[in-house]
Amino acid sequence: MSGKLQAAIGKAERHLARFRAGTLPHLIDGRPDHGDGATFETRSPVDNAPLAQVARGGLAEIDRAARAAMKAFRTGWRATSGEARRAILHRIADAIEARAEEIAFVECMDTGQPIRYMAKAALRGAENFRFYADRAPAAADGLSLPTGTHLNYTLRQPIGPVGVITPWNTPFMLSTWKIAPALAAGCTVVHKPAEWSPLTASLLGEICLDAGLPAGVLNVVHGFGEDAGRALTEHPDIKAIGFVGESATGSAIMAQGAPTLKRVHFELGGKNPVVVFDDADLERALDACLFMIYSLNGERCTSSSRALVQASIYEDFARRAAERVRAIKVGHPLDPATEIGPLIHERHVEKVLSYVNAARSEGATVAVGGGRANGGQGTERGNYVEPTLYTGATASMRIAQEEIFGPVLTMMPFADEKEALAIANDVRYGLTAYVWTRDVGRAHRFAQGLEAGMVWVNSENVRHLPTPFGGMKASGIGRDGGDYSFDFYMETKNIAIALDNHKIPRIGG
Ligand code: NAD
Repeated sequence: MSGKLQAAIGKAERHLARFRAGTLPHLIDGRPDHGDGATFETRSPVDNAPLAQVARGGLAEIDRAARAAMKAFRTGWRATSGEARRAILHRIADAIEARAEEIAFVECMDTGQPIRYMAKAALRGAENFRFYADRAPAAADGLSLPTGTHLNYTLRQPIGPVGVITPWNTPFMLSTWKIAPALAAGCTVVHKPAEWSPLTASLLGEICLDAGLPAGVLNVVHGFGEDAGRALTEHPDIKAIGFVGESATGSAIMAQGAPTLKRVHFELGGKNPVVVFDDADLERALDACLFMIYSLNGERCTSSSRALVQASIYEDFARRAAERVRAIKVGHPLDPATEIGPLIHERHVEKVLSYVNAARSEGATVAVGGGRANGGQGTERGNYVEPTLYTGATASMRIAQEEIFGPVLTMMPFADEKEALAIANDVRYGLTAYVWTRDVGRAHRFAQGLEAGMVWVNSENVRHLPTPFGGMKASGIGRDGGDYSFDFYMETKNIAIALDNHKIPRIGG
């Protein structure tokens, strides 16, 4: 084991010591809460050794948290000025930056994500808070819509306590993406983080409290989807659910929330195409295509999991891709050289590898990988898989239709623009798409024809916070980002003031 890695593990252990020392509680109404004493274990994907015991919440804890969120909403947070909310949210961002290393190291050990990406993810979490902090004072702004008889004006008001339910892939960054706009809007929050990576949600709760967020404004309840998650979506005090996770879970949440008429915002799965035409800058296209599927362990909703490559350049592109994929460095997530770390859970490894047989039996070629990997350096018991490249696929194969959510790329050729568009759109998902061409007309034409919420032309996924983020079809409902988030977390109210010059109909004499 290298000296650098040894030092990093030592640092991580210092940050993890507090989690190992006792049960990680919920955060309810500003206080640690152990519920009824039930717990579950979170294990590190690095070696499957236990990292922490975590309080396991259910109906009672969600009820306490939802009531605390309602009390905090009614008694203060919704009436706190935008300027005051801005100041607190900036203090939260400062505190995230100050603890970025701790957050990153804990996240790496809890999720298996490589430090080269997680270091930035913590800072992006701070950026999310700053972005929405600065928008808090204008969140209530509306329109003036005058007529000859009335002055109509609109304003926005926070919807109430909201539930935020997040997945395990990049949990810290993702939860800030939901929680920051909700708090900026004046909502209070009950957060139910994923049971496979719960640790950094508690760090965020602690940071918010230390930064001066009043008790009950952000509550964190740990637990499983079927009990804590379900209870949150069914609670009458929770007015909306911001959910990130699988499409099937989104359907379940919609049904669970129906009796209490929950407003829902869903960011769900994807099977995103990267479409490479033969006139593209192929070097950049290859870099972006590989980065978008093999970074973050391929556990990324916006990953370019299908490469559609024009037939005239297909063989060469596939050969060059294979060379590069073979050279990807799999290893300990805290090693700065590591490009792919262990996958989140043994069950997820089994899911990802189950596609190897499907690929072979349907006639695709396993050009690279397809098996378990050895991460080396003391990680022999970890959840490692080889970066995998399937070539010669066709659009109807399972590897071309289903979200694998691992470091696995499915490559297939296409003849022309028409066929490329048909294949790109022939999936149930519609989150992102990537197009590579130097033909300006085709770039616009193709981008407009794609059934995807977000399209990048000649680029990997480069996020600009004011732009809308979200998917079509089975990839989601609603948009995050910029003002779009406020539309979800707030009610738009119209107020009409008469100018006393209109005739009021008179009845009854
Ligand atoms: P998941 O749907 O299994 O779980 C997500 C969360 O939902 C967890 O906190 C879980 O406990 C909870 N949950 C499960 N069942 C529930 C229920 N019945 N009621 C309420 N809550 C419930 O997803 P996952 O496996 O954790 O994450 C991977 C998925 O997330 C992938 O499909 C990926 O594409 C998606 N994702 C999407 C985006 C996006 O922005 N579109 C971003 C990241 C991840």
